[in-house]
Amino acid sequence: MPLFPQRFIDDLKHQADIIVVIQDYVSLKKTGATYKGLCPFHGEKTPSFHVNRDKGFFHCFGCGVGGDVFKFLELHEKIGFADSVKLLAQRFGVALPEMEQSDEQRANAAERETLLKVHEAAAAWFRQQLAGGAGVRVRKQIDARGITSATSEALGLGYAPNSRDALKAALLEEGFSQAALLRAGLLVQRDDGSIVDRFRNRLMIPICRDTGSVIAFGGRAVDADQQPKYLNSPETPIYSKGRTLYGLNLSKNAIRERKFAILVEGYFDFAQAYQAGFQGVVASCGTALTPQQAQQLRRFTNKVVLSFDPDAAGQGAAAKSCEILVAEGFAVNVAVLPAGDDPDTFVRTHGAAGYAERLEHSTPYLEYLLDRAAAAHNLNTDEGRVNFLGDMLPVAGRIPDAAMRDRFADRLAFKARVTDEVVRAEIRRAVVQRQPALTNREVPSFGQVTKAEKGLIWLLVHQSADALAALETLDGPDFDGLASRSALEIAQKLNEDKGFSPSTLLERLTTVEARLVTAIASEGEAHVHDAHDCVRILKRLRWERERAAIQREIDRLQEAGAHDGEKLQELLVRKYDVIQRIEALI
Ligand SMILES: [Zn+2]
Repeated sequence: MPLFPQRFIDDLKHQADIIVVIQDYVSLKKTGATYKGLCPFHGEKTPSFHVNRDKGFFHCFGCGVGGDVFKFLELHEKIGFADSVKLLAQRFGVALPEMEQSDEQRANAAERETLLKVHEAAAAWFRQQLAGGAGVRVRKQIDARGITSATSEALGLGYAPNSRDALKAALLEEGFSQAALLRAGLLVQRDDGSIVDRFRNRLMIPICRDTGSVIAFGGRAVDADQQPKYLNSPETPIYSKGRTLYGLNLSKNAIRERKFAILVEGYFDFAQAYQAGFQGVVASCGTALTPQQAQQLRRFTNKVVLSFDPDAAGQGAAAKSCEILVAEGFAVNVAVLPAGDDPDTFVRTHGAAGYAERLEHSTPYLEYLLDRAAAAHNLNTDEGRVNFLGDMLPVAGRIPDAAMRDRFADRLAFKARVTDEVVRAEIRRAVVQRQPALTNREVPSFGQVTKAEKGLIWLLVHQSADALAALETLDGPDFDGLASRSALEIAQKLNEDKGFSPSTLLERLTTVEARLVTAIASEGEAHVHDAHDCVRILKRLRWERERAAIQREIDRLQEAGAHDGEKLQELLVRKYDVIQRIEALI
């Protein structure tokens, strides 16, 4: 959180009594050491929402939500961390720290301001060209694509005429410098040194921030033989392709209201869906979604329906987008269209009702993948079943939520027609052990956390000194595979930096991780009362894992026919050593 100095955050937390803040929204009653009230995040009649003033956190036993005072505001007001800090500072009359601005930062701010103005002026000029005589042909093309003039206006479509430097002349006339136009990517310098318009004879599609400011353009070829078909603005100080979702400026309110977003690929898919009344739509513009784009979307919803043609669904950009969304914790459905159709062509031929029906009958993405993989293999043969599992296990590994992953494992076993409970357990284990490839942090679920971890976390919050001393004796491999890994590692890091406090820990955790910690910390007593016992158990678990890994390797070698040999001997020696270590810890 580089935006605010930590000292300021700590001061503010000191001032901003969590009870006072939450009481602005929830009526709280003191019961024993904590305060209780009706949870503002889920409907309930008996209070299960607890606030702990001393430790500075809240937790709901009903819906599991929890965190520190900033997190409460973030969730309740649906704002980001920085805004919740500002809100609290205002509420408690704490002055925000002077954000020191260097000359360079000031220059950057001025530069961005100029670039925004350039884009606004260019968008207006392109619209004028489309409306004028030069735009007749393109207007006809837009019309032929079934886009009404109202939609064209909503999208801000324009036309860059077939001219060497008409835009340049117009914007210089308006007082913009050639240098600014170059930096905005609207002009390009040719090899011979001449500076000319980048976009010529193109239908211009403005790309906006979700606030509506134009920050870039997509330009579509007007002539059939014109290359490339799409020409886009380059990356600039105000535009980064991987951080921008096309159309979010128009669709964010509808997405929030309808509680899901429709994700399509192209500008015209967007235009048709939007025009047909599906206003909660965004376009990824042909490339796979990035985690940053997914996070943008999450400000408005956590559910996405993708619609694309069935060939694209299983591969390429669309499949990658699905995986990113799943890894970012979205509920993802797939609305498959007939082969060869995209939302643009489908809406034009089948109308809004047809499209609505497809969306309504969309399937959860993971189910969809299962069905596809099941159809691709002959599940009546052992080989087919093994290959099917081989295809699906990596998919399972990328599901961030442990409970969801476990359910997927059961679906997998069912599809593979595995009836043997031992094999089913194997599949579950393989699935759970897989680390998600796309998220850096394992998202824990409560049930997956061992007693020793719960004990240690409870003690970290309520008896920090002892717990920190014990925690210090754990190292990297001890944390491997633990559901609470990142909470424990962050606590350890904070302690090394002499900055540990329960609320600083909560501040550093993701929403899901914070829930886990507050859930444990809200319990009346520790699952394991001595922090050193917790550490001993965790160390033992680590060596148990090591022993299991060695045993698997031994089994593998023996199955392959090796009954002695150096490798096997070495493994047996290691196994013996590990067993000694385990016994020392019992
Ligand atoms: Zn609740």
